[in-house]
Amino acid sequence: MEEQKSHIVLFPFLAHGHINAFLSLASFLHHRYSNLTITFVSTPHHIRSIQSSFSFSSSIQFHSLPFSAESHGLPPNTESLADLQVPQFITFMYATENLQPAFDDFISTISSDSASHGTKVTVVSDIFFGWTVEVARKYRVFHSVFHTMSCYGAAVFFSLWINLPHTKTTTDWFSLPEYPDIMVHRSQLSKNLLMADGTDLASTFLKREFSLCCKTDSLLVNTVEELEQKWIDMVAKSLKIPIFPIGPLIGGLNSASPSAGTEIIEWLDLHPPASVLYISFGSQNSLQKNQMLELALGLEASKRPFIWVIRPPTGIDVKDDFRDEWLPADFEKKMEEEKRGFFVHGWAPQLAILSHKSTGAFMSHCGWNSVLESLNAGVPIISWPLGGEQHFNVTILVEIGVCVQVARGNMENSEVKKEKVADVVEMVMGDNEEGRVLREKTKIIMEIFKGAWKDESCSSTKGLAGFLKLGNNK
Ligand code: UDP
Repeated sequence: MEEQKSHIVLFPFLAHGHINAFLSLASFLHHRYSNLTITFVSTPHHIRSIQSSFSFSSSIQFHSLPFSAESHGLPPNTESLADLQVPQFITFMYATENLQPAFDDFISTISSDSASHGTKVTVVSDIFFGWTVEVARKYRVFHSVFHTMSCYGAAVFFSLWINLPHTKTTTDWFSLPEYPDIMVHRSQLSKNLLMADGTDLASTFLKREFSLCCKTDSLLVNTVEELEQKWIDMVAKSLKIPIFPIGPLIGGLNSASPSAGTEIIEWLDLHPPASVLYISFGSQNSLQKNQMLELALGLEASKRPFIWVIRPPTGIDVKDDFRDEWLPADFEKKMEEEKRGFFVHGWAPQLAILSHKSTGAFMSHCGWNSVLESLNAGVPIISWPLGGEQHFNVTILVEIGVCVQVARGNMENSEVKKEKVADVVEMVMGDNEEGRVLREKTKIIMEIFKGAWKDESCSSTKGLAGFLKLGNNK
């Protein structure tokens, strides 16, 4: 019998972490399934930047959708924007909804072409593009949402935005309507979630998109079955759709330039195995000024070498020049002279740092890509979640035993103390029983990750095959 041909359309949100995971998925699909047509959909700007930094097989196609971030079509009532303090992000979110007509045209064209060639079309979209479910229904094509978060984190995050508001919650701990067994603490909610009343701009957008996502035909999750089995089962039962764990998908744009960061690697080479702490809070986050000071003092007290990907504090444009006053006097100079600290003012080659033998722990905001990259390299995590679903990623990491939390949040009232920084770094990296257990557990997870794609019987290989089969049979 002739094999069913498939055309997979990948449509990530326009942000580095999301595009990265989708690019890894594109590469994986291409290398494992030669009979697929793969189209990566994005804006002309993003496609140009992907093509200039990532070498793609010519069999992966790109399709551009015209986009203007200025043309956002926000509802007239926009007073709440200033209160939310994320005006650019919300404006940008709304602008992405203008991609809909061009995406609709594209799916219309390929679905009618595919019908005449006997090819099945599958749309794989991002969580912020829930509206693609309606486009897929209109043209009767199979749809899947790809979660670039943990399964648990995404479940909690979706539920929190769908069931608003949280302003009236009277207790510190509360459960979620869809998942009564999950307890959330108010301090795990970001400022915009706490302020969202269900009718403001952030709520309106996220509630709509996340509710639509729940109507998809299946979920792909960048996770590993062995890591999140019970949460995968829980979400599948609640949404009544199949869930396919297909992680860890790592690489994408991060693996673009192997020569980048030679200086960092040479610096790492100077240090003994597992002795260096790597600190980064992802592609978008900053700390409060007082938190940066405490972190610096805590690092100094810890006496361990570190690499710190450092940004101006919250409220300052990331493109502004870095000012010494944001750190203790002469801190950077002193740490560099002592070969104790390496400061990255810009983009760090994170994958190369994490996979270097001298890296012993990662202080991270626990964005899911960073988590996967760390565990895949066998590096334990010191968590400092700042927003989004990061707090909930930490919940499972702590439960699994690969992470210790040092601080939480970057709001003015979120506390961090230098003593705690030094203590946690020592606990995770030092010669003590707790640290040893944590490091061993992280190595076990690393082995599980390496096994997820090993052969046809492994969990993620089966997940991806199951997803393609479901799309073909739809
Ligand atoms: N990243 C990097 N260098 C940096 C900062 C970030 O390579 O200096 C990469 C990191 O490896 C990860 C992604 O950017 O793949 C960040 O994604 P994550 O989900 O961890 O956090 P987000 O930036 O989305 O909050």
